[in-house]
Order: sequence, then C-alpha cells, then structure tokens
Amino acid sequence: MAESPFAWIDEQARARRRAGLVRTLRPRPADTPLLDLASNDYLGLARHPEITEAAARAARVWGGGATGSRLVTGSTELHAELERELAEFCGFESALVFSSGYAANLAAVTALAPHGSLIVSDAGNHASLIDGCRLARGATQVVAHADPEAVRKALGTHSGPAVVVSDTVFSVDGDAAPLTGLAGVCRESGAGLVVDDAHGLGVLGEGGRGAPHAAGLAGAADVVATVTLSKSFGSQGGAVLGPARVIEHLVNAARTFIFDTGLAPAAAGAALAALRLLRREPERAARARAVATELHTRLTAEGLEAVRPDAAVVSVRAPSPEQAVRWAADCREAGLAVGCFRPPSVPDGISRLRLTARADLTGGQIDRAVRVISEARR
Ligand code: PMP
Repeated sequence: MAESPFAWIDEQARARRRAGLVRTLRPRPADTPLLDLASNDYLGLARHPEITEAAARAARVWGGGATGSRLVTGSTELHAELERELAEFCGFESALVFSSGYAANLAAVTALAPHGSLIVSDAGNHASLIDGCRLARGATQVVAHADPEAVRKALGTHSGPAVVVSDTVFSVDGDAAPLTGLAGVCRESGAGLVVDDAHGLGVLGEGGRGAPHAAGLAGAADVVATVTLSKSFGSQGGAVLGPARVIEHLVNAARTFIFDTGLAPAAAGAALAALRLLRREPERAARARAVATELHTRLTAEGLEAVRPDAAVVSVRAPSPEQAVRWAADCREAGLAVGCFRPPSVPDGISRLRLTARADLTGGQIDRAVRVISEARR
C-alpha cells in the first residue's frame, strides 16, 4: 500500500514531543478535587443553581438544540429576550447572539471589512479576531500592541472604509487596551472601532457592564463590541453589540450567523439567568477584580513576575516554555489547576501561567493557590 497521505503529520508530532509541547485533552470529572484557577468562570456562575436550573428549563421548553439556523427555525423568543436584555445591560442599541464568541468575532470583522477596506489589528489580539482578519475581504495591517499612535499611522495610509480591532482585555496577560486613545484616533479618521470584550463583560464597568461601558463608548454610533457568554456568564455562546444598522447588516451578511445553527436554548437560558443574577448582585464584578489584585500582590511578594491585572486574569511569567509546562504540572499534582500558555499559542519568550481570579474564591483558597504556585516555582 502507498504511504498514508497523512504521514507528514508524524514529523510535526515528533518535533512537538522533542520540545515537550504536546497538547493533551484531560477530561474533567464532574466532582474534581482540583482548586480551579484555570477556567474562565470569572464570577463562579457556571454551576450556580439558578444558572443550571435556567438551562434545564430552557431545554425542556425549547428543546435540546435550536433545530436550525437563526434565520430559519433557530430564533426562539428566548434568543430575542437575551438580545434585548444584553444590549440594554451593556448600553448598546442592539445585540445579536451567536453560537460562540469565536463566531461573533468572525462575523463582526468580516462583515465590517468589505473589499477595499483596511483593518488595523493589535498584535496581541485573540485568535478569533486574527481569523476574522484572515477571512475578511479588506486588507489587514497588524500594529504594535496597545499603541494608539501606531493605529493613527496605519489609518493615515488609507482612504475608504476602515475598522480598528482590539481585545479590551488581552487574554494572555490580562492587560487592558487603551480604549479611549483608540476611539480618539478612530474618530480623527472616521474609522469604526470593533472591540472584543470577552474578558471585560461581567468584570469591568459598573456592575460588570463591560469595558466599553466603563470607557463611555457603549452605544456610540462608531463602536461595535463582541462578547462571549462562556466566561463571566458561565454559559456558552457569543454576541455582537452595536448600532441597529450594524446588527441588521450582520443578520443579512455575516456568514457565521446565516449558516450556523442557532445557539442552543439551554445556553441562551443560562446566559439570560446569569445576566439577571449579575444585575441583582453587581458586587461580583468588583470582587473578581479584588481577587485579581490580591493574587498579583501576593505572588509578586513571593518573588514571582506577575503582570499587574486590569481585569480578572493574572499572568505569571515563566523563564521558558518547558518551565511553564512543568510549573503547571506541579501545581496540578498539588491539587491546583492553572492555565499554561506557551508556543505555539503564544510567541516564544513569553510563556506564562494564567490564573483566573474567580469572584467566589475564599481567602483560604487564595492562600493555598499562592503557596502551591510559589512551591512549584522552586
Ligand atoms: N475572544 C477572546 C479574547 C477569547 O479569549 C475567547 C475565548 N477564549 C473568544 C473570543 C472566543 O469565545 P468563545 O469561547 O465563546 O468562542
């Protein structure tokens, strides 16, 4: 028999093994004994009884799946309710729910960057925004991280429609984008601003209304935000928030909206319940930020190099990818789950542990996490 057409894969696999950078799936048991600082469940809502009950109720009423794309049978009254309340909560005119934050980002970037347009993209943006740039008809210019001046220069080279795309809180280091500066340079040149608030919603802004709300940009005619329902909201799915004309355009032009099955009713119900719970308990957002600050202060006091957090992500630098992987394995051995970012997820030279400052962590759990991470480093 001829050699397998996939034999070339083995060489890549060998290289990964040699570098000690093989990715493995670790199925999580329902009752894990691990202390979780690895998930994105920032507000500790994923297993909150109100959220899980809302998911179960939505499945009973609307079914296990959406049954079709949003434009055919996949838009339930629950989706419409979620869109109304989400737009209102975050301060935008309209919202459109997608099956994931990834799909929402692909939609926003591709639909707002037609042929002949320019996309200016921050070098630290999430993979889903990068993929949106790759799929869009417009040309992309990648600019230095968190640098409005670099954005101004890039915009100056172009005439015609332009959008600037940036995470609000960068997923690896947890640092915030200079939103006010970005909005300023966008306005000078008439460009639109598309921001991904995946890590801001539920954590930043008054009662967790998000980074655009905190920056006074929510509801502006030239600003579009994307969010995920899978982090602070403890559910699954994503949304684009913006002016009604943009949302109507997405309904008619965004391929990840038109050709994708609608968000599962259980996820929509859970997200709506999380939003309502956050309205009632707005202090959860501030608590997540306070836990992040405490983790940063205590890890720094232990001699670790941690990035000052702007939201609920605390990033701890490791001297090499191998050490980041070993630190994370040692933490797991000691009962602590932490995220580990290393190549190829991040460029060489910036391997890190990524800690989630969950709002529901107790003082004792924070003590334990700091102790375990300090010991793993030794
Ligand atoms: N944007 C950012 C900044 C993210 O971190 C993520 C998820 N890791 C996404 C978008 C994608 O969201 P989802 O998981 O809902 O597809």
